Amino acid sequence: MKNIMVLPGDGIGPEIVNESIKILDFVSSRYNLKITYEYGDIGGIAIDKYGIPLKDETLEKCKNSSAVLLGAVGGPKWDSTVPEKPRPEDALLRVRKELGLFANLRPIKIYKPLISSSTLKEEVIDGVDILFLRELTGGIYFGDRKRLSDEKGEYAYDTEKYYKYEIERIAKLGFKIARSRGKKVTSVDKANILESSRLWRETVKKIHEDYEDVQLNHMYVDNTSMQLIRNPKQFDVILTSNMFGDILSDETAMISGSIGLLPSASLREDSLGMYEPIHGSAPDISGQGKANPIAQILSLAMLFRYSLNLASQADMIEKAVNTVLEKGFRTADINTGENKLVSTTEMGDLILNEIKALG
Ligand code: NAD
Repeated sequence: MKNIMVLPGDGIGPEIVNESIKILDFVSSRYNLKITYEYGDIGGIAIDKYGIPLKDETLEKCKNSSAVLLGAVGGPKWDSTVPEKPRPEDALLRVRKELGLFANLRPIKIYKPLISSSTLKEEVIDGVDILFLRELTGGIYFGDRKRLSDEKGEYAYDTEKYYKYEIERIAKLGFKIARSRGKKVTSVDKANILESSRLWRETVKKIHEDYEDVQLNHMYVDNTSMQLIRNPKQFDVILTSNMFGDILSDETAMISGSIGLLPSASLREDSLGMYEPIHGSAPDISGQGKANPIAQILSLAMLFRYSLNLASQADMIEKAVNTVLEKGFRTADINTGENKLVSTTEMGDLILNEIKALG
């Protein structure tokens, strides 16, 4: 029996999660998968109900689940500059940290029917299929930082610190995933300057000895940011540290045209993972039936692939999304005017119907 913890969150979170749940219900009963799920509160809604963005009890349930499916958190209601006030986003960092989810995966694909919504030329992006693998629990975002003063005035520092074991485990995952895709890993660093990057490069090279069927190349981060725009088709799996991945994966996300299309997974060594769209809670369109549920539905597909080891069901969901887009159905964020404009629930139903037709 597999149990999924569902955390819809705030803003459009509950609306788009509903569409994923319709698909989960159908696929689970159609293939007799014995999947149960339970809802929990996270983010602003939890602050309103309990005064904190994540209850220990909810966190425990996440730890004991097979996977976590998350919508999005946050919104102007909970924005505050007062440091001691609880923030919805604190809950996300806590789940990632307490569950030890050290690897963030962001697949970035170009959907042919949407190719014109990218700001890049069609011939540059046609066929792009990149998997970003970003280290998520180490590096400068977690390193020592301080603000101090000396005789020259006020100063501040942050520290990029990586243990070898942190690099080893993300590199292993990168090579394993590359084996199931294009068999190529580009490891990003700044080894010409940074000592932490030199350890990164050395360690990745060493791990590669066990994965020689996968091609490995090393690229400096500044060059990578240029190559992603110049010729993104050269990449398969991009392996990065926490900060480099944060910056480069947002750059790459824009190649695809809309933030409403991109899913993500945060994983660790066993199969437990958290799956969520890369976008936020979109308070500007919440409650209006305008949200695109595709990123959320593709996050469910990743959950099938990585936590439940059900690749054929994941393929089916991804194929259904592509077919609905090919047929010209669009939510407002990806509508160019010549298409059939649909609401959040209509988009969810269309994808569900395609899945029914495939299954
Ligand atoms: P956002 O991603 O919520 O929205 C940016 C823009 O993209 C908005 O115009 C929005 O309408 C649009 N958009 C986003 N998702 C969409 C979808 N599925 N369909 C159609 N349009 C979509 O980013 P923001 O406005 O900077 O942040 C809003 C709130 O979300 C903030 O409180 C922020 O802290 C939070 N946030 C949460 C997460 C998360 O939960 N992982 C991530 C980013 C931001």
